[in-house]
Amino acid sequence: MNKKHLDHKCGVFGIMHHPQSLHLTYLGVFALQHRGQEAAGIYGCYSDLAQDPFLMRGIGLVHDVFDKQVLAQTELNHAVGHVRYSTSGSKQSQSVHPLIHEKRFAFCHNGNIPKGDVTRSHGTDSEMLFTKILEGYDPAHPLASLKESLIGVEGAYCLIIMTPEGLCYARDPWGIRPLVLGYVEEAPVVCSETCALDLIGATFTREVEPGEVGFIPFKENRLEVDYLPKSSAMSQKCVFELIYFSRPDSTVFGHGVYETRKELGRLLAKSQPVEADLVMAVPDSGVPASLGYAETSGISWDVGLIRNHYIHRTFIEPTHGVRHLGVKIKHNPIRDVVAGKRLVLVDDSLVRSTTSLKIIKLLKQCGAKEVTLAVSSPPMMWPCFYGVDTPNRDELIAAQMSVEKIRERINADRLVYLPLEDLQEYFGEKYCYACFNGKYKVATEEVTSLLEE
Ligand code: AMP
Repeated sequence: MNKKHLDHKCGVFGIMHHPQSLHLTYLGVFALQHRGQEAAGIYGCYSDLAQDPFLMRGIGLVHDVFDKQVLAQTELNHAVGHVRYSTSGSKQSQSVHPLIHEKRFAFCHNGNIPKGDVTRSHGTDSEMLFTKILEGYDPAHPLASLKESLIGVEGAYCLIIMTPEGLCYARDPWGIRPLVLGYVEEAPVVCSETCALDLIGATFTREVEPGEVGFIPFKENRLEVDYLPKSSAMSQKCVFELIYFSRPDSTVFGHGVYETRKELGRLLAKSQPVEADLVMAVPDSGVPASLGYAETSGISWDVGLIRNHYIHRTFIEPTHGVRHLGVKIKHNPIRDVVAGKRLVLVDDSLVRSTTSLKIIKLLKQCGAKEVTLAVSSPPMMWPCFYGVDTPNRDELIAAQMSVEKIRERINADRLVYLPLEDLQEYFGEKYCYACFNGKYKVATEEVTSLLEE
C-alpha cells in the first residue's frame, strides 16, 4: 500500500473586512502550527482588484516562513492562511498552500480526498479539487457554483478559498475535520480551531456545519450560507482530533478538548486499574489523560519527564534514524521523581511505539521500579485516509503484533489501552473510528482499493 501524496494534516484560516487581516492571519496560522509544521502560506488582497495581491509561502515553521517586517508594513483587507504537513513523498514547495490560480484564486485545504482509482500523476488531491472548483466557478454565483462542484465529492475537506469576488468556505457533509466561525469586531473569521480565534481576540460564534458552504463577498460584509445534500446518518467526525490532534485549549465538535482528554483518562483508570505509586504523562499530549487517570485511581500525579519544546514533533521526522534521535533529545526524566517508583505512564496514543520504547528505557535507567504504559485510546491498527498523517499498516505496531508482544518490545511491565467499546460509548455513533476498527465509511470503494495497493 502506497500512502505517498495522500496525507494532509493541516490548519486553515481566513478573515475578511479587517484592516489588519494580514497580521491577524499570521497570528491565526501561528496558533494552528500544531496542525502542520512542514510548510505555511498566507495570501491577502484588497477589495480593489486593481491592487496586486500579497503572497508569502514556503517550507518551514510559521515563524521562519514569514518576513515579519513585510507583514507589519502591509495593510490589506482580506486574507487566508494555511499550515501543512504531508508525507515525505510530497515535500515539494509547489504544493505548499495557498494554491494560487491566476493571482486571484487562493485555495487552502485541510483533509484528504482518497482516490484509489486514479494515479496521482496529475497532482495531489488538493490540486485536483481546486481544478474542479475552478472549472465550475461562476463569478455571478460563487456560492451556488462552489456547492455544485462539491456535490458528490467524497472525502475529508475543510476549504477556505479566496476568489475575485470574496471568500468561500466549505466543510464536507461528514464533518470529518473541524471548522469554526467567529468574529473579531465586525470581521468574520473562519478557521480550523477555536484556539486561533482566541489568539486574535475573536469571539467564537459557532461550528461550521457539516456540509455547509459559505460566501463572504468583498462588496459588503455579509455571510451567505447554503448546505450540501446530506443525511444525519453520514456524520463521521474524526475521533482522533479529540484524542490527539487538536490543541487542548480548543473546543472541537462541541467538546472542550482538554476536558475530553481528561475524561478519557478517567475512563481508562476505571477500565484498566493498576497498582502503582505515581501517575505521570508523556508530555505534552498525554498530560490531560494522565490527570484524569490520577483523579479516578486516587494515585498521586507528578511531572516525571521534561520535554524540550524547541524541536519538532518526533513523529514527523522523515527517516527512521532521525526519529530515534528525536525522541532522545525530546524527553528527559526527572530522576528524583521516578526513582524507586512503580509508575503509570500515560500517553494519548501508541502509533509506531518509538516514543514509548525510548521513554520506558530512560525511566528504567533512572531507577523506576516498574512501568505500566496506559494509553488513553484503543490500539491503532489502520491508516487514516481522511487527513491525519498515520503510517501504513506495516509500521502501525498494533497492526503487526499482539498487545503482549508490544509490551515485550517496549519493555513495559504492563501495557493497557482504553477499550474501543468505552471510546465508542463515550462519543457515540457520529464519529469515525476507522483508525481503530478499519471501518471506513467515507469514499469506501476508493479506500478499499488504496488498501489493496
Ligand atoms: P509513536 O512513537 O509512533 O508510538 O508515536 C506516539 C506518540 O506520537 C504519542 O506520544 C502521540 O502523542 C504522538 N502521535 C500520535 N499520532 C500522531 C500523529 N498523527 N502525528 C504526530 N504525532 C502523533
